[in-house]
Amino acid sequence: MKIGTMDQATHRVVIVGAGFGGLECTRALSGLPVTVTVVDQRNHHLFQPLLYQVATTSLATSEIAWPIRHLLRKRKNTTTLLGTVTGIDVENRRVLFDDGGSVGYDTLVLATGARHAYFGHDEWEPFAPGLKTLEDATTIRRRILLAFERAERESDPEKQRALMTFVVIGGGPTGVELAGTIAELARDTLVGEFRNIDTRTTRVVLIEAGPRILAGFKPELSAYAKQALEKLGVTVELGNSVTECAADGVVFGGKHLAAGAIIWAAGVAASPAAEWLHAKADKAGRILVEPDLTMPGHPEIFAIGDTALVRWEGDRNVPGIAPAAKQQGKHVAETIKARLAGESSPRPFKYRHAGDLATIGKRAAAIDFGWMKLKGRLAWWIWGIAHIYFLIGLRNRIAVMLSWLWIYVSGQRSARLITQIDRHEDLTGAG
Ligand SMILES: Cc1cc2nc3c(=O)[nH]c(=O)nc-3n(C[C@H](O)[C@H](O)[C@H](O)COP(=O)(O)OP(=O)(O)OC[C@H]3O[C@@H](n4cnc5c(N)ncnc54)[C@H](O)[C@@H]3O)c2cc1C
Repeated sequence: MKIGTMDQATHRVVIVGAGFGGLECTRALSGLPVTVTVVDQRNHHLFQPLLYQVATTSLATSEIAWPIRHLLRKRKNTTTLLGTVTGIDVENRRVLFDDGGSVGYDTLVLATGARHAYFGHDEWEPFAPGLKTLEDATTIRRRILLAFERAERESDPEKQRALMTFVVIGGGPTGVELAGTIAELARDTLVGEFRNIDTRTTRVVLIEAGPRILAGFKPELSAYAKQALEKLGVTVELGNSVTECAADGVVFGGKHLAAGAIIWAAGVAASPAAEWLHAKADKAGRILVEPDLTMPGHPEIFAIGDTALVRWEGDRNVPGIAPAAKQQGKHVAETIKARLAGESSPRPFKYRHAGDLATIGKRAAAIDFGWMKLKGRLAWWIWGIAHIYFLIGLRNRIAVMLSWLWIYVSGQRSARLITQIDRHEDLTGAG
């Protein structure tokens, strides 16, 4: 592309993915003399950091997701398209859809995120769903609630115990958050509602292959998180990876553990964007981009967020978190703006890391700002305020605050609906 000769009136920017990176890029392009087309396979932008709260009945789906079309309604230079991208015609500069359609671009921004990965064991997915979409969250919610319902009808104590055992695989922030909240659901919310089971005897087992949970945090925060989880009744198993996942449980460290529901929080892989471009990628499928976030040899194609591998301070990679994707989205928009103004030299991206956060139930959190570490209630409040701040729209901020306040005061979680039971999950467990 002749960067310095971009035709300002008709320059077409196509952004694939309206997650954190894509949306931020779209916003930052507002007012520029370009036409923007935002393509997403879903009609909503999802606030993934609170997805575990939908999976564990604390929040409703509509509290953490917003229609993309509505979010972009005031951006007159922007068109929103619902569609699944399956390829890129780099030669002719067209984005290709699964239904045979296509859209042309002058500049392409790939912000298609990541999906969960089973380290070569995709056959585990039906038994151990991961958490990435609203559908994943409601599937997990359904499985947790169904396990309690089935335990209530079960007369064999051994089977009952198995049904009331929940296994979370992966001790990163999502695994820690899920395990803590399932324990609270069992020990707080559901108590007294069943007649044949005591939900306080529920077992929640968090399995982490490494030597500590929250491996990205400082060791003392990992130790604190483990202690806080154990206080909530979670069993933390370290140092053994899961070698088998099946309908009735998992095998780890040579032991079989029967379970009523299994949740996968152990690994992610990038979207297949690298395959679409035949671009170089790392083992997790992330496109190896240039320092200015473009694909090597193609200054007209940018890849950002979870689907790109971006170097940070020499030997480290920019982490796969929302603020990183947003910063990259903004950087790309600024680069496009600079190119429109006639600048042609590459503009390297500089990442600013604010910190790492994870909650443990409704009263504790661990925060690692690098220069300061925080844990306990104060950390929880900072975590809560940060998440409310980053939610979109006043209505959702108020709704989430009220839901949390209600849980805090009463222990009750309102989003306890079992929906879309499939044949394999009926009450008898048959299928
Ligand atoms: C459960 C969970 C908890 C998390 N917690 C935190 C947290 O606490 N803090 C934090 O900072 N980060 C957290 N993250 C990570 C954070 O959400 C991601 O780093 C961030 O979403 C990456 O932004 P992105 O724009 O790259 O991709 P995403 O936000 O994932 O957006 C990708 C978009 O691309 C669309 N898309 C994908 N493929 C296609 C296709 N083929 N065609 C069309 N559209 C497509 C998707 O529908 C999606 O809208 C969490 C992630 C998960 C899954």
